[in-house]
Amino acid sequence: MKPAPFEYFAPETAEEALALMAEHGVEARPLAGGQSLVPLINMRMAQPSVLIDLNRCPELAYLREEDGMLVSGPMTRQRELELSETVRAACPLIAKAMPHMGHATIRNRGTAGGSLSHADPSAELPGVALALGAEMIAGGPNGRRTVPATEFFFAELTTALEPDEMLCEIRFPEAPAGSRAAFAEVGSHFGGLALVGVAAQIDLDSAGRCTKAALAATGAGERPTRLSSTEAVLTGEVLEKQSIAEAAEAAAGDVEPLEDLHATAHWRRRAAVAMAARALHEIADEAGTR
Ligand SMILES: Cc1cc2nc3c(=O)[nH]c(=O)nc-3n(C[C@H](O)[C@H](O)[C@H](O)COP(=O)(O)OP(=O)(O)OC[C@H]3O[C@@H](n4cnc5c(N)ncnc54)[C@H](O)[C@@H]3O)c2cc1C
Repeated sequence: MKPAPFEYFAPETAEEALALMAEHGVEARPLAGGQSLVPLINMRMAQPSVLIDLNRCPELAYLREEDGMLVSGPMTRQRELELSETVRAACPLIAKAMPHMGHATIRNRGTAGGSLSHADPSAELPGVALALGAEMIAGGPNGRRTVPATEFFFAELTTALEPDEMLCEIRFPEAPAGSRAAFAEVGSHFGGLALVGVAAQIDLDSAGRCTKAALAATGAGERPTRLSSTEAVLTGEVLEKQSIAEAAEAAAGDVEPLEDLHATAHWRRRAAVAMAARALHEIADEAGTR
């Protein structure tokens, strides 16, 4: 199919891009890696009358460490998040989740900002952002504002960004020394969007006891879900077979899955429990606590 007609702009600076967003507002969509937007406009499921292509704004693609945060530009490619040594050291959960996102060719084009702004409930990066307590920096006609990940994802394909705003930066808190991370997911086929996934980062003391647990599920609700009950059960515990089983089971009460043509709500709930257990077992194996 062919897209509906649209006006195309290719700004060369973030300032120009923001000015175009302010001018065209609800009519406009930023084009990042195009891995979700291009299929949508080709099938006419999205019909923006203005496309603002961010690919010629080099200043929007960067990775740096700043005051205990890993800071990413919105146009940083997913493949860079996957392969960067800085990311691996500062936020290992991101590096572990990235290989689950589609295929390498998709990650070569797909961007951090595109994945987060698209807000597919099954997407890995929104779950990681929620687990880590990331901050989204939105830019618009009234300047910049910080939106915590807990307030960024509203519903399927819907975020806290206003129509004339753009995601300008993502700030991930760096993992403390002694923390371990894992990402587990189940899907219908290799490279396809996952059905259910769990992102986990666990801080351990020198005795292997959990001092802080951070987990989020994807694909188990209309937006990524923090697994607060699992976190509460784990805190203060050594990750062993029994504590992992109890903590993972608690995830069943945290998620509110929807039924669709891919899976029943019951299946997604049980998958969230299983993926939480799988991620925690991986962490326990790495830390040698079981
Ligand atoms: C075959 C296939 C398999 C895939 N599998 C997975 C998978 O397993 N997991 C997964 O997470 N994803 C998967 N994807 C989607 C892929 O990761 C996309 O890259 C991602 O969803 C969107 O990123 P993008 O940079 O391509 O954004 P685009 O497609 O360019 O944009 C997506 C949306 O975000 C908006 N947007 C982009 N940048 C900004 C910004 N800075 N501010 C505000 N709005 C913005 C756009 O206007 C659009 O609405 C898959 C895609 C394909 C084609």
